[in-house]
Amino acid sequence: MGNSILAIVVPCFNEEEVLPQTNQQLRALLDGMMRDGLVGNGSYILYVNDGSRDRTWEIIAGYSEADVHVRGLKLAGNVGHQNALMAGLETARQDADVTVSIDADLQDDIHAIPEMVNKYNDGCDIVYGVRRKRTTDTFFKRTTAQMFYKFMTGMGVKSVYNHADFRLMSRRAVDALCQYEERNLFLRGLVPLLGYKTDQVYYDRLERQAGESKYPLSKMLSFAIDGVTSFSVKPLRLIFDLGLVFLLISLGILVYVIVALCQGRGVQGWASLMLSIWFVGGCVLICLSIIAAYIGRIYTEDKHRPRYNIETYLK
Ligand code: UDP
Ligand code: MG
Repeated sequence: MGNSILAIVVPCFNEEEVLPQTNQQLRALLDGMMRDGLVGNGSYILYVNDGSRDRTWEIIAGYSEADVHVRGLKLAGNVGHQNALMAGLETARQDADVTVSIDADLQDDIHAIPEMVNKYNDGCDIVYGVRRKRTTDTFFKRTTAQMFYKFMTGMGVKSVYNHADFRLMSRRAVDALCQYEERNLFLRGLVPLLGYKTDQVYYDRLERQAGESKYPLSKMLSFAIDGVTSFSVKPLRLIFDLGLVFLLISLGILVYVIVALCQGRGVQGWASLMLSIWFVGGCVLICLSIIAAYIGRIYTEDKHRPRYNIETYLK
């Protein structure tokens, strides 16, 4: 299996600062792997430019011109990390036997890639890169990320703990993935659904080598909502549970009122009335917004718009 063509797919959004390092390290790794006969000589790195506003594309185009093992895919606009990754995988499956997706910032240890390929050669279709520890992430990033995983599991979404989008996929796994046509992409939830033989490779999460995170809290939140709403209807069921709790509370209040009246005490309560109205009103609005989140997804899915448009493909 040593002549399998490997494509390393790297989505890039405003990554001009880190690209020179990334390219140098990935190229050296790829050279080593080709020399050792781990992958075929036609293997390549595919940089996907996700509508960057800096010099990212010029840099990629330069590399690709100078080097047969580097390719560049330029998307027509910014479509987000998940869609950009999908664009890269769909393009790579045309001629690559196996793909590895990795972020541009070198936070995932590239030296896990040969181990992934070994597992592929042993018959695995999907190999997840799993972080051993996250001591290099900021406290904030670490805790929000952990909360994210806990929340997802609580909501019934199966995903691999401490795995992001650093993974190997064989061509047939990518082919299978391409059959999932949803627009609200959450790849780390989708890939476990494919069902092929999987394995994991552990690595230490490193620091972003240059540039800033492209995932601010707001993007992470909407990513989490995407994840939950595309894989689980548990939030909708929780609304029913909440309704039951409210009914029970109102029954309790009813009993309290009847007892008070029977004992000849008047029932007072401007404060409790105001509190209840605002509390229940708030809960109702939150429940509506949960339903609205699902309706919003139905709306975007139903339009079947393309996930991305390709402007240029430099081989
Ligand atoms: N990215 C992208 N499109 C976007 C945002 C990010 O292609 O709209 C890429 C980015 O260039 C990087 C990867 O997605 O290669 C992960 O982003 P980042 O490292 O900023 O996220 P973090 O590691 O902080 O979660
Ligand atoms: Mg990163």
